[in-house]
Amino acid sequence: MENIKDIIVVSSGKGGVGKSTVSVNLSIALAQKKIKVGLLDADIYGPSIPKMLNINEKPDVNETKKIIPFEKYGIYSMSIGNLISPDKPVIWRGAMVVSALNQMINDIEWNKIDILIIDLPPGTGDIQLSLSQKLPLTGAVVVSTPQEVALIDVRRAINMFKRVNVKILGLIENMSFFETNGIKNYIFGKEGVSKESKIQKIAFLGEIPIFPDLAKSGDIGKPLTLTEGSDVEKIYSNIADKLLQEIQTVRKKSPKIEIE
Ligand code: ADP
Repeated sequence: MENIKDIIVVSSGKGGVGKSTVSVNLSIALAQKKIKVGLLDADIYGPSIPKMLNINEKPDVNETKKIIPFEKYGIYSMSIGNLISPDKPVIWRGAMVVSALNQMINDIEWNKIDILIIDLPPGTGDIQLSLSQKLPLTGAVVVSTPQEVALIDVRRAINMFKRVNVKILGLIENMSFFETNGIKNYIFGKEGVSKESKIQKIAFLGEIPIFPDLAKSGDIGKPLTLTEGSDVEKIYSNIADKLLQEIQTVRKKSPKIEIE
């Protein structure tokens, strides 16, 4: 792993809140700003990025036996789902998962990239903790839906990152509301995540409404952020801008870390 400027983990307390959808669309939004982005799907228990990017083949390796990331939609990517058979249930214990992920991180030839986005497995257990400790992270982004049951797990995630001194760059609220005929329906409650970010004094990076097309685009493997001028593209572009500002703030406070 050489010459990666910033490593950012995308995490969520709970599964199914849209962490992978956010990882993919945020990566593309950053790439649209001429940033060289790598996306690593480390969600070992449910890798969904091969489907979301429609990349189903196994990767090539170079002459030094390093895995060559895929290049599609303007980003470099690799998923644990492209390395192991998708039908095989992953029944590894925590320590094995961590060593598999470490190996994956070390064995991929990322070349020079600006930002590596890592889609973490959901939750706040040993795997997340160990990865956060082992990797030289610039910070974490936490994705949540607005309801209280999800926020309980967000607080857990925030505490976990604090324990290992990982800066939380910001919170993102997904599935904030569903708009019909110009009326916003706050299905899961209103502004739960932005309120939480104020309480926790963490930046709020933005809210993403429920868009049925977003789910469809995930299923067919063509992320909606690729559609220029779409609402989704604009939302993710704003989130990417805010994230870049937060990264700058971290940079100003701490010396740049060189990774070998
Ligand atoms: P996680 O990675 O947290 O498990 P996913 O990103 O796989 O969650 O999302 C779960 C499901 O919800 C997927 O089918 C995805 O397409 C859908 N989804 C995510 N965000 C939205 C959204 N804002 N609007 C509509 N569907 C969404």
